[in-house]
Amino acid sequence: PFDVLVIGGGPAGASAAIYAARKGIRTGIVAERLGGQVLDTLGIENFISVKYTEGPQFAAQLEEHVKQYDIQVMKAQRAKRLEKKSLIEVELESGAVLKSKAVILATGARWRNVGVPGEDKFKNKGVAYCPHCDGPLYQGKDVAVIGGGNSGIEAAIDLAGIVRHVTVLEFMPELKADAVLQKRLYSLPNVTVVTNAATKEITGTDKVDGITYTDRDTGEVHHIDLQGVFVQIGLVPNTEWLGDTVERTRTGEIVVDPRGATSVPGVFAAGDCTNSPYKQIIISMGSGANAALGAFDYLIRT
Ligand code: FAD
Repeated sequence: PFDVLVIGGGPAGASAAIYAARKGIRTGIVAERLGGQVLDTLGIENFISVKYTEGPQFAAQLEEHVKQYDIQVMKAQRAKRLEKKSLIEVELESGAVLKSKAVILATGARWRNVGVPGEDKFKNKGVAYCPHCDGPLYQGKDVAVIGGGNSGIEAAIDLAGIVRHVTVLEFMPELKADAVLQKRLYSLPNVTVVTNAATKEITGTDKVDGITYTDRDTGEVHHIDLQGVFVQIGLVPNTEWLGDTVERTRTGEIVVDPRGATSVPGVFAAGDCTNSPYKQIIISMGSGANAALGAFDYLIRT
């Protein structure tokens, strides 16, 4: 059996595996895609000490670093079930069952898509999901934020300080964000809020040049010229496969303590799949390291 088995090969999983392997314990990593969300990222400017890099290059360096260590890497494999017996068992979709004394869950998350024409085509070409990451690319430009919940309104407030103008498009008749955020939003001079707006299409040729929406009250179709669209309708953790085995929040995030421990002894979690409030590469890596040290501490006590 493994001492530490990491599920997920994004920044959190890679970091957890390296920290575990450096303790000289038997470490494995199972990942559908080594690199995780980073593979879908173009420019990265906020991984501190690296001024600029690109997602695929960053992912290749993660893999290279993992391979420096004695880590059993199982790529293109999905975990589908976890069960705590005397050891912790993880069943893969291939049917294989892996056993380990401790497991670190690092399966990340995915942005919920609006699913309109243009969204896929213009990803990284005007369609963005992370204001902390891509906001500065739209300095002086006009953008829209789709989604009027807390994350959408936080994004709009954040972007309003950088871009020329922000239009918030909310599908429902009113914004869902906390009152304090709405108050702050409405105090800003360069923000317009459109409610009852059903996004129809993100338009452009080689990059985004506008957005089309239907007013759900009147059925009228409107078009706005702009250069960027931030989709903020939810981040979904990749934790469905865990069912009730570990405690998760209402939105599916794995609940962890300061050592990365979950509700199941020996099972730890790190990165975007947890209830950590902010989702970034640097934060996921720190959390992966933290969970590996937590797991090591657990192993030497049991
Ligand atoms: P992920 O990166 O999501 O990795 C999850 C891993 O788990 C993957 O290997 C996946 O294949 C695997 N996996 C999932 N389910 C299973 C399963 N059942 N079995 C086995 N493996 C599984 N952050 C920044 O700091 N700066 C940026 O500039 C930036 N830009 C971004 C741009 C885009 C387009 C996106 C989508 C995100 C961006 N982020 C950025 C956020 C950042 O990528 C994430 O916070 C980070 O990747 C989270 O790392 P993670 O390891 O927790 O999860």
